[in-house]
Amino acid sequence: MDIGLYVHVPFCATKCGYCDFYSHVPAPGAFGPLVDALLAELDAGLAREGLRVETIFVGGGTPTLLPLVELERLFSRLGQVAQRDRPVEFTVEANPASLTAEKAAVLRQAGVNRISLGAQSFHPEELRTLERLHRPADIPASVALVRQAGFEHFNLDLIFGIPGQTQASWSESLRRAVDLGPDHLACYGLTYEPDTPLRERLDQGMVEPLDETTEAALYEQAIDFLESQGVRQYEISNFARPGAESRHNVRYWLNLPYLGVGPSAASYLHGRRWKNVPDTARYVAQMHLGQSPIIEVEELSPLERAGETAMLQLRLVSGIHRTDFRQATGFDPAELFAGVIARHVERNLLIADEEHIALTRAGRLVADSVIAEFLAREPLGGARPVASVPPPST
Ligand code: SF4
Repeated sequence: MDIGLYVHVPFCATKCGYCDFYSHVPAPGAFGPLVDALLAELDAGLAREGLRVETIFVGGGTPTLLPLVELERLFSRLGQVAQRDRPVEFTVEANPASLTAEKAAVLRQAGVNRISLGAQSFHPEELRTLERLHRPADIPASVALVRQAGFEHFNLDLIFGIPGQTQASWSESLRRAVDLGPDHLACYGLTYEPDTPLRERLDQGMVEPLDETTEAALYEQAIDFLESQGVRQYEISNFARPGAESRHNVRYWLNLPYLGVGPSAASYLHGRRWKNVPDTARYVAQMHLGQSPIIEVEELSPLERAGETAMLQLRLVSGIHRTDFRQATGFDPAELFAGVIARHVERNLLIADEEHIALTRAGRLVADSVIAEFLAREPLGGARPVASVPPPST
């Protein structure tokens, strides 16, 4: 079975105010034990029968925060996996403030062929609002390192909807990002996640959020500008030059199997989903004792699996491919979601034809609310898997 491999490095130099990913400032001496644990879990995970790694994504956190010697240890093993299975895509997330020429060389040597840089904004004030560590000038400097090291592909992450952001400042960030020549851009709308310092500041009236209309205008501005530059939208938040779409993330949106390694990492194999403990010290201790770091296991029913597959595939601009969906889940999506589809087609939020069901551009502006309706937990209208379709191969 082909899988995507995800490795989570939970360390960051500081914690950005809006971030709700599992990441934290490392305790002194935490790097070596974490890499020991990651390597142990990686070897155990890949020892499963018949897995072939198609893509590797090392994220976090900030993987490039690992000291050189630990980075070398982790990536020499991942490089062997990449060499054995020849993944077509091997991505590492990096932050403009943490990438050095030495670290870039270690990654390149291991076979990494794609870097994803968290640029977020080219405006000092906006970066300060986000509590990012880097300055705008660090972004082109990191891109220069990426180019010098010889990575074939790189992505820049940007954020819109930052308090104080204007159409002019967003336009400048988009322009400066494109001028650096990435073949992939991700544009995320800022969200005020519970239990984050930014949300606290919002609740205390210390920041003024952008209104919905302005935020929608910024999103549409990104779609129009990037398309005019030949960087096409292929997912709600993701844009690429033709052929440079993230294979790893597309696998995720197609609901294909993946193996996650590291604290808080999730896995999805054979219709079963599980999650590791989101606590680095516990994760390391459990791996050291030879115990499982898994804290949650969920077995999906065929209907839940169909609902989740629809929800994920609708994020793609190409939407749900009806024949592929039937083959993967056993259900005809047009039949299973007939009511939801009819309602949203009527409002011009979805288009549905013989082959595809997809969000319209207007639908992409309110994607979360439309998609949520596809996540059916209960049987809809007595729907049953299509009898003539074989069960999913995973
Ligand atoms: S660098 Fe990324 S993972 Fe780390 S705190 Fe900031 S947003 Fe979160």
